[in-house]
Amino acid sequence: MKYYTNDCVGCGLPCLGAACEYNKVEHFKCDYCKEEDIKLYEYEGYEICEECLLKEFNVVEGSGW
Ligand SMILES: [Zn+2]
Ligand SMILES: [Zn+2]
Repeated sequence: MKYYTNDCVGCGLPCLGAACEYNKVEHFKCDYCKEEDIKLYEYEGYEICEECLLKEFNVVEGSGW
C-alpha cells in the first residue's frame, strides 16, 4: 500500500505543516508482510513485495526437466 508520513526533521520549529515539503512523504509498504520502502507489485488488488508475490505461485515439480 501507499501511505504518507511526516518526515520533517525540523524545518521551521515548529513544522510548517502543509507548506513543508516533508509534510507528506510518500512511502510504500507490502500489504502482506508489511515490509516498508521496497519495490512493490500489484497482485489481485494488493500491493506486495517480490518475496510475497513468489509465495503466491507454486513451483512446478516433477515436470520432467
Ligand atoms: Zn516541516
Ligand atoms: Zn511482502
